[in-house]
Amino acid sequence: MISRRVVIVGGVAGGASCAARLRRLDENAEIFVFERGGFVSFANCGLPYYIGGIIAPRERLLVASPERFRDYFNIEIRVHHEVTRIDREQRLVEVRNCQTGISFTKPYDTLVLSPGAKPVVPPVPGVDLPGVFTLRLLEDAERIYRWLEDRQVTRAVVVGAGYIGLEMVENLVRRNIAVTLVEAADQILPGFDGEMVVPFYDKLAAHEVDLLLGSPLSAIEPHNSQLAVLAGGKRVDCGAVILCVGVRPEVTLAQAAGLEIGQLGGIRVDEQMRTTDPNIFAVGDAVEVKDLVTGKWTWVPLAGPASRQARVAADVICGRPSRFRGVLGTAIITAFGVTIAKTGLSEKAAQREGIRYQKSYSHSPHHATYYPGSKPISMKLLYDPADGRILGAQAIGESGIDKRIDVISMAIQKGGTVFDLEEAELCYAPQFGSARDPVNIAGFVAGNICRGDVEVAHWEDLDRADQNASPLVIDVRTPGEYAAGAPPRVVNIPLGELRSWLHELPTDRELWVHCGVGQRAYYAARVLSQKGFRVKNLSGGYTTYRSYRRSKPKD
Ligand code: FAD
Repeated sequence: MISRRVVIVGGVAGGASCAARLRRLDENAEIFVFERGGFVSFANCGLPYYIGGIIAPRERLLVASPERFRDYFNIEIRVHHEVTRIDREQRLVEVRNCQTGISFTKPYDTLVLSPGAKPVVPPVPGVDLPGVFTLRLLEDAERIYRWLEDRQVTRAVVVGAGYIGLEMVENLVRRNIAVTLVEAADQILPGFDGEMVVPFYDKLAAHEVDLLLGSPLSAIEPHNSQLAVLAGGKRVDCGAVILCVGVRPEVTLAQAAGLEIGQLGGIRVDEQMRTTDPNIFAVGDAVEVKDLVTGKWTWVPLAGPASRQARVAADVICGRPSRFRGVLGTAIITAFGVTIAKTGLSEKAAQREGIRYQKSYSHSPHHATYYPGSKPISMKLLYDPADGRILGAQAIGESGIDKRIDVISMAIQKGGTVFDLEEAELCYAPQFGSARDPVNIAGFVAGNICRGDVEVAHWEDLDRADQNASPLVIDVRTPGEYAAGAPPRVVNIPLGELRSWLHELPTDRELWVHCGVGQRAYYAARVLSQKGFRVKNLSGGYTTYRSYRRSKPKD
Protein backbone atom coordinates (compact mmCIF):
# COMPACT_ATOMS: atom_id res chain seq x y z
CA MET A 1 0.00 0.00 0.00
CA ILE A 2 1.24 3.49 -0.88
CA SER A 3 1.98 5.57 2.23
CA ARG A 4 2.30 8.93 0.47
CA ARG A 5 2.71 10.32 -3.02
CA VAL A 6 5.68 12.65 -3.31
CA VAL A 7 6.42 14.58 -6.48
CA ILE A 8 9.80 16.26 -6.83
CA VAL A 9 10.55 19.04 -9.32
CA GLY A 10 14.20 18.98 -10.42
CA GLY A 11 16.38 15.89 -10.41
CA VAL A 12 19.89 17.11 -9.73
CA ALA A 13 21.56 18.09 -6.43
CA GLY A 14 18.59 18.79 -4.16
CA GLY A 15 15.93 16.80 -5.98
CA ALA A 16 17.89 13.58 -6.37
CA SER A 17 19.18 13.70 -2.77
CA CYS A 18 15.70 14.26 -1.43
CA ALA A 19 14.28 11.40 -3.47
CA ALA A 20 16.94 8.94 -2.33
CA ARG A 21 16.60 9.93 1.34
CA LEU A 22 12.81 9.64 1.12
CA ARG A 23 13.12 6.11 -0.13
CA ARG A 24 15.55 5.16 2.62
CA LEU A 25 13.02 6.39 5.17
CA ASP A 26 9.84 5.14 3.57
CA GLU A 27 9.76 2.01 1.45
CA ASN A 28 6.05 2.50 0.74
CA ALA A 29 6.11 6.04 -0.65
CA GLU A 30 5.41 6.66 -4.32
CA ILE A 31 8.19 8.99 -5.48
CA PHE A 32 8.18 10.75 -8.84
CA VAL A 33 10.92 13.09 -10.00
CA PHE A 34 10.46 15.35 -13.02
CA GLU A 35 13.56 16.83 -14.58
CA ARG A 36 13.35 19.30 -17.44
CA GLY A 37 16.86 18.55 -18.70
CA GLY A 38 18.15 15.32 -20.15
CA PHE A 39 20.15 14.18 -17.10
CA VAL A 40 19.57 13.60 -13.42
CA SER A 41 22.00 13.67 -10.57
CA PHE A 42 24.88 15.01 -12.64
CA ALA A 43 27.84 16.83 -11.15
CA ASN A 44 27.30 20.50 -12.07
CA CYS A 45 30.40 21.33 -10.05
CA GLY A 46 32.47 19.24 -12.46
CA LEU A 47 31.28 20.96 -15.64
CA PRO A 48 34.21 23.41 -16.01
CA TYR A 49 36.63 20.50 -15.61
CA TYR A 50 34.81 18.50 -18.28
CA ILE A 51 35.27 21.45 -20.64
CA GLY A 52 38.94 21.63 -19.66
CA GLY A 53 39.44 17.92 -20.34
CA ILE A 54 40.25 16.98 -16.74
CA ILE A 55 37.06 14.98 -16.32
CA ALA A 56 36.57 12.55 -19.19
CA PRO A 57 34.61 10.82 -20.53
CA ARG A 58 31.41 12.78 -20.01
CA GLU A 59 29.78 9.79 -18.26
CA ARG A 60 31.98 10.44 -15.23
CA LEU A 61 29.79 13.45 -14.51
CA LEU A 62 26.72 11.28 -14.21
CA VAL A 63 26.49 10.36 -10.56
CA ALA A 64 23.39 8.20 -11.04
CA SER A 65 21.06 7.39 -13.95
CA PRO A 66 17.25 7.14 -13.99
CA GLU A 67 17.75 3.36 -14.33
CA ARG A 68 19.85 3.27 -11.18
CA PHE A 69 17.15 5.26 -9.34
CA ARG A 70 14.55 2.77 -10.52
CA ASP A 71 16.60 -0.34 -9.72
CA TYR A 72 18.14 0.71 -6.42
CA PHE A 73 15.44 2.97 -5.03
CA ASN A 74 12.23 2.21 -6.88
CA ILE A 75 12.01 5.89 -7.79
CA GLU A 76 10.48 7.00 -11.08
CA ILE A 77 12.51 9.73 -12.73
CA ARG A 78 11.30 11.36 -15.91
CA VAL A 79 13.89 13.41 -17.75
CA HIS A 80 12.84 15.91 -20.43
CA HIS A 81 9.72 16.53 -18.36
CA GLU A 82 8.95 20.05 -17.23
CA VAL A 83 6.51 20.82 -14.45
CA THR A 84 4.60 23.79 -15.85
CA ARG A 85 1.98 24.50 -13.17
CA ILE A 86 1.10 23.70 -9.57
CA ASP A 87 -2.57 23.37 -8.63
CA ARG A 88 -2.46 23.74 -4.87
CA GLU A 89 -6.20 23.26 -4.42
CA GLN A 90 -6.28 19.94 -6.23
CA ARG A 91 -2.75 19.03 -5.14
CA LEU A 92 -1.52 18.17 -8.59
CA VAL A 93 1.13 19.37 -10.97
CA GLU A 94 0.88 19.81 -14.70
CA VAL A 95 3.79 18.21 -16.53
CA ARG A 96 4.89 18.66 -20.14
CA ASN A 97 6.91 16.05 -21.94
CA CYS A 98 9.48 18.32 -23.62
CA GLN A 99 10.11 15.79 -26.41
CA THR A 100 6.50 15.07 -27.42
CA GLY A 101 4.92 18.32 -26.24
CA ILE A 102 2.17 16.30 -24.52
CA SER A 103 1.04 17.50 -21.10
CA PHE A 104 -0.51 15.52 -18.27
CA THR A 105 -1.23 15.96 -14.59
CA LYS A 106 0.25 14.17 -11.62
CA PRO A 107 -1.33 14.28 -8.15
CA TYR A 108 0.74 14.62 -5.00
CA ASP A 109 0.35 14.51 -1.25
CA THR A 110 3.63 16.36 -0.86
CA LEU A 111 5.48 18.38 -3.48
CA VAL A 112 9.19 19.17 -3.25
CA LEU A 113 10.60 21.99 -5.36
CA SER A 114 14.29 21.81 -6.20
CA PRO A 115 14.37 23.74 -9.48
CA GLY A 116 17.75 25.33 -8.79
CA ALA A 117 18.86 28.65 -10.20
CA LYS A 118 19.12 30.15 -13.64
CA PRO A 119 22.15 31.96 -15.02
CA VAL A 120 21.86 35.73 -15.27
CA VAL A 121 22.19 37.00 -18.82
CA PRO A 122 23.17 40.67 -18.84
CA PRO A 123 20.70 42.84 -20.75
CA VAL A 124 23.12 44.00 -23.44
CA PRO A 125 23.05 43.59 -27.23
CA GLY A 126 24.52 40.41 -28.67
CA VAL A 127 24.12 37.99 -25.76
CA ASP A 128 21.99 35.74 -27.98
CA LEU A 129 24.63 35.43 -30.73
CA PRO A 130 25.98 31.98 -31.61
CA GLY A 131 29.17 31.42 -29.62
CA VAL A 132 27.84 33.13 -26.48
CA PHE A 133 27.14 30.66 -23.68
CA THR A 134 26.06 30.31 -20.07
CA LEU A 135 27.01 27.25 -18.03
CA ARG A 136 24.47 25.49 -15.84
CA LEU A 137 23.48 22.16 -17.34
CA LEU A 138 25.44 19.28 -18.77
CA GLU A 139 23.93 20.21 -22.11
CA ASP A 140 25.48 23.71 -21.76
CA ALA A 141 28.88 22.17 -21.07
CA GLU A 142 28.55 19.93 -24.12
CA ARG A 143 27.59 22.86 -26.33
CA ILE A 144 30.64 24.82 -25.13
CA TYR A 145 32.91 21.80 -25.53
CA ARG A 146 31.74 21.16 -29.10
CA TRP A 147 31.98 24.83 -30.10
CA LEU A 148 35.54 25.10 -28.82
CA GLU A 149 36.51 21.85 -30.59
CA ASP A 150 34.72 22.40 -33.88
CA ARG A 151 35.85 26.01 -34.32
CA GLN A 152 39.32 25.46 -32.91
CA VAL A 153 38.79 28.56 -30.76
CA THR A 154 42.06 30.29 -29.87
CA ARG A 155 40.72 33.20 -27.79
CA ALA A 156 37.73 33.32 -25.49
CA VAL A 157 36.23 35.94 -23.23
CA VAL A 158 34.86 34.99 -19.82
CA VAL A 159 32.48 37.59 -18.43
CA GLY A 160 32.28 37.53 -14.64
CA ALA A 161 35.10 36.67 -12.23
CA GLY A 162 33.13 34.75 -9.64
CA TYR A 163 33.65 31.07 -8.81
CA ILE A 164 32.44 29.63 -12.11
CA GLY A 165 34.09 32.37 -14.16
CA LEU A 166 37.49 31.73 -12.61
CA GLU A 167 37.13 27.97 -12.97
CA MET A 168 36.24 28.49 -16.63
CA VAL A 169 39.31 30.70 -17.14
CA GLU A 170 41.57 28.00 -15.75
CA ASN A 171 40.00 25.31 -17.89
CA LEU A 172 40.12 27.33 -21.09
CA VAL A 173 43.80 28.05 -20.43
CA ARG A 174 44.23 24.33 -19.90
CA ARG A 175 42.97 23.90 -23.46
CA ASN A 176 45.59 26.40 -24.70
CA ILE A 177 42.95 29.02 -25.34
CA ALA A 178 43.98 32.61 -24.66
CA VAL A 179 41.52 34.20 -22.25
CA THR A 180 40.30 37.68 -21.42
CA LEU A 181 38.47 37.89 -18.10
CA VAL A 182 36.00 40.75 -17.91
CA GLU A 183 34.65 41.85 -14.52
CA ALA A 184 32.45 44.83 -13.67
CA ALA A 185 33.67 45.05 -10.05
CA ASP A 186 37.11 46.33 -9.11
CA GLN A 187 38.24 42.87 -7.94
CA ILE A 188 37.83 39.24 -8.85
CA LEU A 189 35.77 36.91 -6.60
CA PRO A 190 33.60 39.71 -5.22
CA GLY A 191 32.35 37.49 -2.36
CA PHE A 192 35.82 37.79 -0.79
CA ASP A 193 37.53 40.89 0.53
CA GLY A 194 39.69 42.64 -2.05
CA GLU A 195 43.04 42.25 -0.31
CA MET A 196 42.52 38.50 0.12
CA VAL A 197 42.24 37.66 -3.59
CA VAL A 198 45.43 39.47 -4.65
CA PRO A 199 47.60 36.32 -5.08
CA PHE A 200 45.37 35.33 -8.00
CA TYR A 201 46.41 38.41 -9.98
CA ASP A 202 49.98 37.20 -10.39
CA LYS A 203 48.76 33.74 -11.37
CA LEU A 204 46.39 35.15 -13.98
CA ALA A 205 49.20 37.30 -15.38
CA ALA A 206 51.59 34.34 -15.43
CA HIS A 207 49.07 32.46 -17.57
CA GLU A 208 48.66 35.48 -19.84
CA VAL A 209 45.05 36.00 -18.90
CA ASP A 210 44.03 39.58 -19.71
CA LEU A 211 42.11 40.83 -16.73
CA LEU A 212 39.74 43.75 -17.28
CA LEU A 213 38.49 44.90 -13.88
CA GLY A 214 35.91 47.65 -13.49
CA SER A 215 34.71 46.79 -17.00
CA PRO A 216 30.98 46.13 -17.31
CA LEU A 217 30.00 44.26 -20.45
CA SER A 218 28.29 46.70 -22.83
CA ALA A 219 27.76 44.65 -26.02
CA ILE A 220 28.79 41.62 -28.02
CA GLU A 221 28.94 42.02 -31.79
CA PRO A 222 29.51 39.66 -34.70
CA HIS A 223 32.89 40.31 -36.29
CA ASN A 224 34.40 38.46 -39.29
CA SER A 225 32.67 35.21 -38.36
CA GLN A 226 33.93 35.74 -34.81
CA LEU A 227 32.73 37.86 -31.90
CA ALA A 228 33.78 41.23 -30.55
CA VAL A 229 33.21 41.89 -26.87
CA LEU A 230 32.85 45.51 -25.76
CA ALA A 231 33.50 46.11 -22.07
CA GLY A 232 34.77 49.04 -20.05
CA GLY A 233 35.67 50.99 -23.20
CA LYS A 234 37.78 48.12 -24.58
CA ARG A 235 37.10 45.73 -27.43
CA VAL A 236 38.23 42.12 -27.50
CA ASP A 237 37.88 39.86 -30.56
CA CYS A 238 37.33 36.22 -29.74
CA GLY A 239 35.83 32.93 -30.83
CA ALA A 240 33.62 32.28 -27.79
CA VAL A 241 32.10 34.15 -24.87
CA ILE A 242 31.15 32.45 -21.60
CA LEU A 243 28.78 34.51 -19.46
CA CYS A 244 29.37 33.78 -15.77
CA VAL A 245 27.80 36.83 -14.16
CA GLY A 246 25.84 34.98 -11.51
CA VAL A 247 22.60 33.13 -10.99
CA ARG A 248 19.09 33.91 -9.75
CA PRO A 249 16.72 31.55 -7.93
CA GLU A 250 14.39 29.70 -10.33
CA VAL A 251 11.02 30.61 -8.82
CA THR A 252 8.71 30.76 -11.83
CA LEU A 253 6.55 27.85 -10.68
CA ALA A 254 6.51 28.85 -7.03
CA GLN A 255 5.62 32.45 -7.84
CA ALA A 256 2.78 31.45 -10.16
CA ALA A 257 1.46 29.16 -7.43
CA GLY A 258 1.37 32.06 -4.98
CA LEU A 259 4.08 30.78 -2.62
CA GLU A 260 5.88 33.48 -0.67
CA ILE A 261 9.02 34.81 -2.34
CA GLY A 262 11.55 36.67 -0.21
CA GLN A 263 13.28 39.97 -0.86
CA LEU A 264 16.35 38.22 -2.20
CA GLY A 265 14.19 36.53 -4.83
CA GLY A 266 14.18 33.01 -3.33
CA ILE A 267 11.30 30.88 -2.09
CA ARG A 268 10.65 31.46 1.62
CA VAL A 269 10.84 28.30 3.72
CA ASP A 270 10.80 27.56 7.42
CA GLU A 271 13.52 25.64 9.28
CA GLN A 272 11.96 22.42 8.05
CA MET A 273 12.10 23.52 4.41
CA ARG A 274 8.32 23.99 4.24
CA THR A 275 7.06 26.77 2.00
CA THR A 276 4.03 28.87 2.90
CA ASP A 277 1.95 25.90 1.66
CA PRO A 278 2.42 23.10 4.25
CA ASN A 279 2.17 20.48 1.49
CA ILE A 280 4.99 22.01 -0.53
CA PHE A 281 8.66 21.91 0.44
CA ALA A 282 11.49 23.68 -1.35
CA VAL A 283 15.25 23.18 -1.20
CA GLY A 284 18.49 24.19 -2.87
CA ASP A 285 19.38 27.20 -4.97
CA ALA A 286 15.74 28.25 -5.22
CA VAL A 287 15.27 29.01 -1.51
CA GLU A 288 16.21 31.69 0.96
CA VAL A 289 17.41 30.48 4.34
CA LYS A 290 18.75 32.11 7.49
CA ASP A 291 22.33 33.31 7.80
CA LEU A 292 23.84 31.66 10.87
CA VAL A 293 25.82 34.76 11.85
CA THR A 294 23.35 37.58 11.19
CA GLY A 295 20.14 35.62 11.68
CA LYS A 296 18.81 37.36 8.55
CA TRP A 297 17.50 35.87 5.34
CA THR A 298 20.22 35.02 2.89
CA TRP A 299 20.62 33.18 -0.38
CA VAL A 300 23.57 30.83 -0.84
CA PRO A 301 23.45 28.81 -4.06
CA LEU A 302 25.86 26.02 -3.18
CA ALA A 303 25.73 22.25 -3.40
CA GLY A 304 26.38 21.48 0.30
CA PRO A 305 23.39 23.44 1.63
CA ALA A 306 21.18 22.06 -1.18
CA SER A 307 22.05 18.51 -0.21
CA ARG A 308 21.54 19.07 3.52
CA GLN A 309 18.24 20.87 2.96
CA ALA A 310 17.07 17.97 0.78
CA ARG A 311 17.80 15.58 3.62
CA VAL A 312 15.91 17.74 6.11
CA ALA A 313 12.89 17.99 3.79
CA ALA A 314 12.80 14.21 3.32
CA ASP A 315 13.10 13.67 7.08
CA VAL A 316 10.27 16.07 7.83
CA ILE A 317 8.02 14.57 5.13
CA CYS A 318 8.55 11.22 6.85
CA GLY A 319 7.69 12.63 10.26
CA ARG A 320 11.17 13.25 11.69
CA PRO A 321 11.80 16.51 13.57
CA SER A 322 14.88 17.58 11.54
CA ARG A 323 15.72 21.24 11.11
CA PHE A 324 18.05 23.13 8.81
CA ARG A 325 20.11 25.36 11.05
CA GLY A 326 21.17 27.92 8.45
CA VAL A 327 24.15 28.71 6.30
CA LEU A 328 27.53 30.37 6.63
CA GLY A 329 28.29 30.44 2.91
CA THR A 330 31.35 28.27 3.43
CA ALA A 331 32.95 28.07 -0.01
CA ILE A 332 36.22 27.28 -1.71
CA ILE A 333 37.73 27.77 -5.13
CA THR A 334 41.04 26.86 -6.63
CA ALA A 335 42.64 28.03 -9.87
CA PHE A 336 46.21 27.94 -11.16
CA GLY A 337 47.45 26.33 -7.96
CA VAL A 338 46.02 28.96 -5.61
CA THR A 339 43.11 28.14 -3.32
CA ILE A 340 40.89 30.57 -1.47
CA ALA A 341 38.10 29.72 0.93
CA LYS A 342 35.74 31.52 3.23
CA THR A 343 33.18 30.94 5.92
CA GLY A 344 30.81 33.34 7.61
CA LEU A 345 30.98 37.07 7.07
CA SER A 346 33.51 38.85 4.90
CA GLU A 347 34.48 42.32 6.04
CA LYS A 348 32.40 43.80 3.23
CA ALA A 349 29.38 41.83 4.42
CA ALA A 350 29.92 42.87 8.05
CA GLN A 351 30.06 46.52 6.99
CA ARG A 352 26.98 46.14 4.81
CA GLU A 353 25.09 44.57 7.73
CA GLY A 354 26.33 47.16 10.21
CA ILE A 355 27.82 44.45 12.42
CA ARG A 356 30.49 45.43 14.94
CA TYR A 357 33.69 43.54 14.27
CA GLN A 358 37.42 43.46 14.76
CA LYS A 359 39.68 41.81 12.25
CA SER A 360 43.18 40.43 12.26
CA TYR A 361 45.48 38.88 9.72
CA SER A 362 47.94 36.05 10.19
CA HIS A 363 50.40 34.47 7.80
CA SER A 364 51.72 31.07 8.72
CA PRO A 365 53.11 27.99 6.97
CA HIS A 366 50.62 25.27 6.11
CA HIS A 367 52.91 22.71 7.69
CA ALA A 368 56.16 22.66 9.62
CA THR A 369 58.78 24.62 7.69
CA TYR A 370 61.51 22.06 8.44
CA TYR A 371 59.63 19.53 6.31
CA PRO A 372 59.98 20.19 2.55
CA GLY A 373 57.11 21.75 0.64
CA SER A 374 55.67 24.10 3.21
CA LYS A 375 53.51 26.88 1.71
CA PRO A 376 52.23 30.02 3.39
CA ILE A 377 48.60 30.49 4.34
CA SER A 378 47.24 34.00 4.69
CA MET A 379 44.24 34.17 6.94
CA LYS A 380 41.82 36.91 7.89
CA LEU A 381 39.60 36.48 10.89
CA LEU A 382 36.57 38.61 11.82
CA TYR A 383 35.17 38.48 15.34
CA ASP A 384 33.13 40.39 17.86
CA PRO A 385 35.66 42.47 19.83
CA ALA A 386 33.46 42.29 22.93
CA ASP A 387 33.49 38.55 23.43
CA GLY A 388 35.66 37.12 20.66
CA ARG A 389 32.78 35.32 18.92
CA ILE A 390 33.97 34.39 15.46
CA LEU A 391 32.02 36.04 12.64
CA GLY A 392 33.94 34.91 9.59
CA ALA A 393 37.23 33.80 8.10
CA GLN A 394 38.99 33.80 4.76
CA ALA A 395 42.20 32.00 3.85
CA ILE A 396 44.34 31.84 0.73
CA GLY A 397 47.38 29.79 -0.17
CA GLU A 398 48.52 26.79 -2.11
CA SER A 399 47.83 24.00 0.35
CA GLY A 400 45.80 23.20 3.44
CA ILE A 401 43.22 25.94 2.93
CA ASP A 402 40.16 23.69 3.04
CA LYS A 403 41.14 22.14 6.36
CA ARG A 404 41.58 25.48 8.12
CA ILE A 405 38.37 27.04 6.86
CA ASP A 406 36.40 23.87 7.57
CA VAL A 407 37.65 23.88 11.17
CA ILE A 408 36.68 27.52 11.60
CA SER A 409 33.33 26.93 9.92
CA MET A 410 32.56 24.24 12.47
CA ALA A 411 33.71 26.54 15.28
CA ILE A 412 31.30 29.26 14.09
CA GLN A 413 28.47 26.75 13.79
CA LYS A 414 29.03 25.83 17.43
CA GLY A 415 29.10 29.49 18.51
CA GLY A 416 32.90 29.39 18.98
CA THR A 417 35.22 32.24 19.88
CA VAL A 418 38.78 33.16 18.94
CA PHE A 419 39.76 31.64 22.29
CA ASP A 420 38.40 28.32 21.07
CA LEU A 421 40.71 28.60 18.06
CA GLU A 422 43.67 29.17 20.38
CA GLU A 423 42.79 25.92 22.10
CA ALA A 424 41.72 23.92 19.06
CA GLU A 425 43.34 20.50 19.15
CA LEU A 426 44.24 19.63 15.58
CA CYS A 427 46.21 16.78 14.09
CA TYR A 428 49.91 17.38 13.60
CA ALA A 429 52.75 15.63 11.90
CA PRO A 430 55.25 17.72 9.91
CA GLN A 431 53.65 16.84 6.56
CA PHE A 432 50.25 18.16 7.66
CA GLY A 433 50.58 21.04 10.06
CA SER A 434 52.53 22.48 12.93
CA ALA A 435 52.27 22.11 16.65
CA ARG A 436 50.85 25.61 16.37
CA ASP A 437 48.51 25.23 13.46
CA PRO A 438 47.52 28.27 11.35
CA VAL A 439 44.10 27.99 13.03
CA ASN A 440 45.73 28.27 16.46
CA ILE A 441 47.87 31.17 15.29
CA ALA A 442 44.85 33.05 13.93
CA GLY A 443 43.28 32.43 17.35
CA PHE A 444 46.40 33.65 19.23
CA VAL A 445 46.56 36.85 17.18
CA ALA A 446 42.87 37.60 17.66
CA GLY A 447 42.90 36.44 21.30
CA ASN A 448 45.78 38.81 22.10
CA ILE A 449 43.74 41.68 20.68
CA CYS A 450 40.51 40.70 22.46
CA ARG A 451 42.32 40.32 25.80
CA GLY A 452 43.93 43.74 25.36
CA ASP A 453 47.50 42.37 25.27
CA VAL A 454 48.04 44.37 22.09
CA GLU A 455 46.12 47.04 20.24
CA VAL A 456 45.68 46.57 16.56
CA ALA A 457 45.71 48.98 13.63
CA HIS A 458 45.17 48.36 9.95
CA TRP A 459 46.80 49.77 6.87
CA GLU A 460 43.64 51.63 5.87
CA ASP A 461 43.70 53.28 9.32
CA LEU A 462 47.11 54.63 8.40
CA ASP A 463 45.71 56.01 5.14
CA ARG A 464 42.97 57.70 7.13
CA ALA A 465 45.18 58.93 9.97
CA ASP A 466 45.10 62.66 10.54
CA GLN A 467 48.30 64.14 9.13
CA ASN A 468 48.72 66.34 12.21
CA ALA A 469 48.31 63.54 14.69
CA SER A 470 49.72 60.76 12.57
CA PRO A 471 51.46 57.91 14.35
CA LEU A 472 55.15 57.16 14.03
CA VAL A 473 55.35 53.89 12.11
CA ILE A 474 58.27 51.68 13.06
CA ASP A 475 59.35 48.83 10.83
CA VAL A 476 60.98 46.27 13.12
CA ARG A 477 62.30 44.02 10.35
CA THR A 478 65.98 43.69 9.53
CA PRO A 479 67.70 46.41 7.45
CA GLY A 480 67.91 43.91 4.58
CA GLU A 481 64.18 43.25 4.60
CA TYR A 482 63.49 46.97 4.92
CA ALA A 483 65.75 47.79 1.99
CA ALA A 484 64.02 45.17 -0.16
CA GLY A 485 60.72 46.99 0.19
CA ALA A 486 58.84 48.96 2.80
CA PRO A 487 55.79 51.19 3.06
CA PRO A 488 56.50 54.93 2.71
CA ARG A 489 57.25 57.11 5.74
CA VAL A 490 58.28 54.39 8.14
CA VAL A 491 61.44 54.27 10.23
CA ASN A 492 63.42 51.07 10.49
CA ILE A 493 64.39 49.97 13.98
CA PRO A 494 65.05 46.23 13.93
CA LEU A 495 63.47 44.35 16.80
CA GLY A 496 66.89 43.40 18.18
CA GLU A 497 67.83 47.10 18.55
CA LEU A 498 64.49 48.38 19.80
CA ARG A 499 65.33 48.42 23.51
CA SER A 500 68.40 50.60 22.91
CA TRP A 501 66.24 53.19 21.09
CA LEU A 502 63.56 53.58 23.72
CA HIS A 503 64.87 56.89 25.05
CA GLU A 504 64.76 58.37 21.51
CA LEU A 505 61.15 57.48 20.79
CA PRO A 506 58.43 60.15 21.11
CA THR A 507 56.01 59.86 24.01
CA ASP A 508 53.51 62.33 22.57
CA ARG A 509 52.65 60.25 19.49
CA GLU A 510 51.26 56.79 18.99
CA LEU A 511 53.80 54.27 17.77
CA TRP A 512 52.55 51.81 15.17
CA VAL A 513 54.79 48.84 14.60
CA HIS A 514 54.94 46.43 11.72
CA CYS A 515 57.13 43.59 10.48
CA GLY A 516 56.86 40.88 7.83
CA VAL A 517 53.70 39.17 9.04
CA GLY A 518 52.95 40.64 12.46
CA GLN A 519 54.82 38.38 14.85
CA ARG A 520 57.96 40.46 15.53
CA ALA A 521 55.79 43.57 15.63
CA TYR A 522 53.73 41.89 18.36
CA TYR A 523 56.92 41.29 20.35
CA ALA A 524 57.87 44.94 19.78
CA ALA A 525 54.42 46.12 20.82
CA ARG A 526 54.71 44.17 24.06
CA VAL A 527 58.10 45.80 24.80
CA LEU A 528 56.84 49.29 23.99
CA SER A 529 53.52 49.09 25.80
CA GLN A 530 55.19 47.80 28.97
CA LYS A 531 57.57 50.76 28.77
CA GLY A 532 54.62 53.15 28.75
CA PHE A 533 54.32 53.95 25.03
CA ARG A 534 50.99 54.07 23.24
CA VAL A 535 51.48 51.40 20.62
CA LYS A 536 49.54 49.50 17.97
CA ASN A 537 50.48 46.54 15.83
CA LEU A 538 49.71 46.91 12.11
CA SER A 539 47.98 43.60 11.57
CA GLY A 540 49.48 41.23 9.02
CA GLY A 541 52.57 43.39 8.58
CA TYR A 542 54.21 44.09 5.24
CA THR A 543 52.64 40.96 3.67
CA THR A 544 49.16 42.35 4.26
CA TYR A 545 50.33 45.83 3.28
CA ARG A 546 51.31 44.62 -0.20
CA SER A 547 47.97 42.88 -0.74
CA TYR A 548 46.11 45.89 0.62
CA ARG A 549 47.96 48.26 -1.74
CA ARG A 550 47.43 46.06 -4.77
CA SER A 551 43.74 45.72 -3.99
CA LYS A 552 43.45 49.48 -4.24
CA PRO A 553 44.91 50.08 -7.71
CA LYS A 554 43.17 53.41 -8.16
CA ASP A 555 44.59 55.00 -4.99
P1 FAD B 1 20.22 22.02 -9.54
O1 FAD B 1 21.23 21.04 -9.11
O2 FAD B 1 20.61 23.04 -10.54
O3 FAD B 1 18.97 21.22 -10.08
C1 FAD B 1 17.82 21.90 -10.51
C2 FAD B 1 17.22 21.12 -11.66
O4 FAD B 1 15.84 21.46 -11.74
C3 FAD B 1 17.82 21.48 -13.00
O5 FAD B 1 18.43 20.37 -13.60
C4 FAD B 1 16.62 21.99 -13.82
O6 FAD B 1 16.65 21.53 -15.16
C5 FAD B 1 15.45 21.40 -13.08
N1 FAD B 1 14.22 22.17 -13.22
C6 FAD B 1 14.04 23.50 -13.03
N2 FAD B 1 12.75 23.83 -13.22
C7 FAD B 1 12.12 22.69 -13.53
C8 FAD B 1 10.76 22.40 -13.85
N3 FAD B 1 9.83 23.35 -13.85
N4 FAD B 1 10.44 21.14 -14.13
C9 FAD B 1 11.36 20.14 -14.11
N5 FAD B 1 12.66 20.37 -13.83
C10 FAD B 1 13.03 21.63 -13.54
N6 FAD B 1 28.41 24.41 -5.65
C11 FAD B 1 29.35 24.11 -4.73
O7 FAD B 1 29.02 24.02 -3.54
N7 FAD B 1 30.66 23.89 -5.09
C12 FAD B 1 31.06 23.97 -6.39
O8 FAD B 1 32.24 23.74 -6.69
C13 FAD B 1 30.11 24.30 -7.37
N8 FAD B 1 30.46 24.41 -8.67
C14 FAD B 1 29.52 24.67 -9.60
C15 FAD B 1 29.89 24.76 -10.94
C16 FAD B 1 28.95 25.01 -11.91
C17 FAD B 1 29.36 25.11 -13.33
C18 FAD B 1 27.58 25.17 -11.53
C19 FAD B 1 26.52 25.44 -12.59
C20 FAD B 1 27.20 25.12 -10.22
C21 FAD B 1 28.16 24.87 -9.23
N9 FAD B 1 27.81 24.80 -7.89
C22 FAD B 1 28.76 24.51 -6.95
C23 FAD B 1 26.44 25.06 -7.43
C24 FAD B 1 25.67 23.77 -7.23
O9 FAD B 1 25.74 23.01 -8.39
C25 FAD B 1 24.23 24.11 -6.89
O10 FAD B 1 24.23 24.84 -5.70
C26 FAD B 1 23.37 22.89 -6.72
O11 FAD B 1 23.35 22.11 -7.88
C27 FAD B 1 21.94 23.31 -6.38
O12 FAD B 1 21.08 22.22 -6.34
P2 FAD B 1 19.57 22.40 -6.77
O13 FAD B 1 18.93 21.06 -6.65
O14 FAD B 1 18.98 23.53 -6.05
O15 FAD B 1 19.63 22.82 -8.31
